[in-house]
Amino acid sequence: MADGGRVVLPAPGGFILPDQGRDMLPGQGRIVALDQGRTMNADKTGATSPWEEERLILPWAGEELHEECGVFGIWGHPDAAQLTYYGLHALQHRGQESAGIVTSDGQRFTFHRGMGLVTEVFHAEELQKLHGERAIGHVRYPTNGGSVLLNAQPLVFNYRGGELAVATNGALVNADSLRRYLERQGSIFQTTSDTEVIAHLIARSAYDEVEEAVKEALQMLKGAYAFLIMTNEKLVVALDPNGLRPLSLARLGDAYVFASETCAFDAIGADFVRDVEPGELIVIDRDGLRSQRFANAGRRALCTFEYIYFARPDSDIDGVNVHMARKRMGKRLAEEAAVEADVVTGVPDSSISAAIGFAEASGIPYEMGLVKNRYVGRTFIRPSQALREQGVKMKLSAVRKVVDGKRVVMIDDSIVRGTTSRRIVQLLREAGAKEVHVRISSPMVKHPCFYGVDTSSREELIAADKGVEAIRQAIGADSLAFLSIEGMLEAIGRPFASPTDWQRGHCLACFTGEYPTEIPGDLAAD
Ligand code: SF4
Repeated sequence: MADGGRVVLPAPGGFILPDQGRDMLPGQGRIVALDQGRTMNADKTGATSPWEEERLILPWAGEELHEECGVFGIWGHPDAAQLTYYGLHALQHRGQESAGIVTSDGQRFTFHRGMGLVTEVFHAEELQKLHGERAIGHVRYPTNGGSVLLNAQPLVFNYRGGELAVATNGALVNADSLRRYLERQGSIFQTTSDTEVIAHLIARSAYDEVEEAVKEALQMLKGAYAFLIMTNEKLVVALDPNGLRPLSLARLGDAYVFASETCAFDAIGADFVRDVEPGELIVIDRDGLRSQRFANAGRRALCTFEYIYFARPDSDIDGVNVHMARKRMGKRLAEEAAVEADVVTGVPDSSISAAIGFAEASGIPYEMGLVKNRYVGRTFIRPSQALREQGVKMKLSAVRKVVDGKRVVMIDDSIVRGTTSRRIVQLLREAGAKEVHVRISSPMVKHPCFYGVDTSSREELIAADKGVEAIRQAIGADSLAFLSIEGMLEAIGRPFASPTDWQRGHCLACFTGEYPTEIPGDLAAD
């Protein structure tokens, strides 16, 4: 690692230990302690995690795109734990596997983490025991590391500088090589999450000041990350040099608030200030907020799937409202791939906005032809194979009175593996649809994502080696069309940063194969 031309290696003696906890709740304090209450369902079904169980009981679960996480942080508010709970609740769509909150009163941490939804992990009792005016929180979807409490964030450590908590959204493309390097240097990892890498790098830094140690550590990381790192004295916030993941700053009275999406600010009544810049490091302590750069900003490459699928429609990313962007994508799709039909419907929830846009532009009425069952939870009794083969439809149903005898345009936000689209087309036909025309409000996903979205191999992607006609046949649609890349960029409507910035500050790697960062050979080979 370069430091004034000198190669700086991690300081000797930088051992890092899991926090052993103090007077905390069951399941707290010790990073290796599994909360038995939260893993009970997985035991019953033989699944390795509640998320895996959902994959087993829901025929369609696990075939959608998932992202890694949502982060939330607040500094300087007496209700820090409660507000973090509300913030995480607003970010729940970004990860349902585990949730956690760490608070600090300036002297010591208290924390609680568990497997499951925010409302399952936290009750009034847990929140009351989280003291202090500072907090960071996390909701997780596991795309790296296993689905166990061990990997639930924020991760909490003791090191020579005191207590340290880390929450991140994203994925490091060089996590494996850094882990191997650190293990050779004597680090003992407590989790299988790549987020732990930065804690070891901080612990081994020659710098005593945490912000300097963080800056040094960040020089070694490659990939997508939005970090919230807390000690008892400081909150350090960092976004990767390409700005692959969204992260925004708000104020609530005198308090500073950070969140992956602006919908979390609305949930607590905070006022949006600005988005965190790529390569920016923000430090908050008793002297207030300071901003600096830890790296030159690279090509801005915000994940396009935030607009297509991940983010909540009421969030604004880089000043663009997600619902309005999706609606414009649907409108553009109607212009690019018109079809004669009787009714337009969207796959709930993420495709509804695009379906409304398509209907408005085409003049074909929008109808709710598909309904999602929101209450299929982790404890749902798993159907027998025989029932599954009879087509038990637990997650999505077609509205027969809407689609029977009709030519239906079915709008979906993306096709990844193709199996979900095939089943939805089949559902609509079983409900009497005369024709099913599938229109996708994003381009073909042909390349894997290495930045925290769970499509990390080409074999998983139907468009990796199939053209439009072959995919149409595979999903059984009467016609199929995808939105063009140019149409999508214009519809989202982020401005050009420069005359050569044809990608308008987006990551388009899963459509084009042009990755904004270097991808290590072993990952690219997958
Ligand atoms: S490769 Fe695709 S899913 Fe991954 S960060 Fe880029 S745009 Fe998002």
